Amino acid sequence: MAERVIVVGAGPAGLFAAREVARRAEGDVEVIVYEQGPDVDERLEKGEVMRGVGGAGGLSDGVLNLRPDVGGDLTEIVGNRREAERLVEYVDEVFLRHGAPRELREPSGPKAEEIARRAAAADVEFVRIPQRHIGSDHLPKVIKSFVRELEDLGVRIVTKTRVERILASEGEVRGVRLEDGREVEADYVIVAPGRVGADWMIREAKRLGLGIRYNPIDVGVRVEVPKVVMDPIVEVSLDPKFRLRTPTYDDQVRTFCVCHGGYVVKETYEGFVGVNGHSYRDRKSENTNFAFLVSVDLTEPVENTIKYGRSIGELATTIGGNRPILQRLGDLRRGRRSTWDRINRSQVTPTLTDVTPGDVSMALPHRVTLDIIEGLEILDEVIPGVASDSTLLYAPEIKFYSARVRTNEELETAVEGLFVAGDGAGLSRDIVNAAATGVIAGRAVAERVGG
Ligand SMILES: Cc1cc2nc3c(=O)[nH]c(=O)nc-3n(C[C@H](O)[C@H](O)[C@H](O)COP(=O)(O)OP(=O)(O)OC[C@H]3O[C@@H](n4cnc5c(N)ncnc54)[C@H](O)[C@@H]3O)c2cc1C
Repeated sequence: MAERVIVVGAGPAGLFAAREVARRAEGDVEVIVYEQGPDVDERLEKGEVMRGVGGAGGLSDGVLNLRPDVGGDLTEIVGNRREAERLVEYVDEVFLRHGAPRELREPSGPKAEEIARRAAAADVEFVRIPQRHIGSDHLPKVIKSFVRELEDLGVRIVTKTRVERILASEGEVRGVRLEDGREVEADYVIVAPGRVGADWMIREAKRLGLGIRYNPIDVGVRVEVPKVVMDPIVEVSLDPKFRLRTPTYDDQVRTFCVCHGGYVVKETYEGFVGVNGHSYRDRKSENTNFAFLVSVDLTEPVENTIKYGRSIGELATTIGGNRPILQRLGDLRRGRRSTWDRINRSQVTPTLTDVTPGDVSMALPHRVTLDIIEGLEILDEVIPGVASDSTLLYAPEIKFYSARVRTNEELETAVEGLFVAGDGAGLSRDIVNAAATGVIAGRAVAERVGG
């Protein structure tokens, strides 16, 4: 009798996992993918961003970051850098086969070399990411071509069907229960529910005793500078990434999500307000903003970085009177709060005004505040002007990542036959890394089928 493999979620992790099982398993195997959202056409029609075949970002620009240490840490999972790179190459090849454009973008040429040289001199890492832009107009075609391959391999994708429970007994997986109460037996289950399914994943992990570990969170500010300051850098890379370590605490600080000519926006989370950045195609500001984030990991006695991040968010919201805090870097350095008067005298006009001029150091922990000041001063050696007194800081910007389910290196959990993959299990944060973890789990299951 055919062995049955159930995959939960049709994002990159789930689709790649299903493909590996169907292509590699030597025994007789039936692969079923359950996806709570709709198929690609219905997603397009309804503008369903987070769920459906293709997963989160299935309707987005679809930028493939072709590095194992961006959007996750594959090397840590597979224990070997070369193997992690091979996985990225493999995922890229599959995307190419399904119609991703051949053109690769990577910061190169004399200007990029100059930035890399300056960065190296300042002890800053200029993270060069080879990127493939699929583009929102092409992404649906790529996903459909992938789905056709799966169907040709005999994989059944069942849409609009939510898995409610993972069934296990005596330490072994037995199958899943669907939202309509039906129970479907399986020999192996690969759970890849993405960020939308992360809370459910954690609940199930706790119920099944799988063990979880909190991932580090990123806490910091949104920095806003005149657009001209960033022009030479953005000319080389649209979303330039820099990573550095701060002298006092030896913490890692990084730039993230550079919005050139963009706007800072307020975001409301459960219990606090924060900031983010946006760029628009047809509307440009005189400024550029980017997140400047400190990575915070906790061990003893509290591991719960999500709770810690929320409490920082709540404190900042209290001190800002339900608005994000805005401060000039010069005021932060001098230990005084900003006022509208001081901000209006500054060289940079804020693009977000629904804020409270105040003191970032009243909202963020001392360590994070010092990391930001020191980090900007170091970054100023690579990007002259980012640490001027007029530079604007908006707080808080906090990035949470899903807690990580405990697994072995094949991504099998404490329950035999139950595997996890992708963002929902805290193993990745982008398309390529999610897909690669799906490949790891899929290959491990394929090895066992018929064994
Ligand atoms: C707007 C947007 C744009 C993005 N752009 C990019 C980009 O350009 N480049 C990049 O690398 N990354 C991008 N990302 C991030 C990227 O989309 C994710 O990192 C990636 O999709 C994660 O893959 P995944 O398979 O782990 O999870 P997901 O893609 O989230 O897929 C999980 C799927 O599982 C389904 N599911 C969840 N729970 C259940 C359940 N109980 N039963 C059945 N189905 C379930 C969900 O509906 C979802 O479709 C973007 C994200 C968003 C939201």
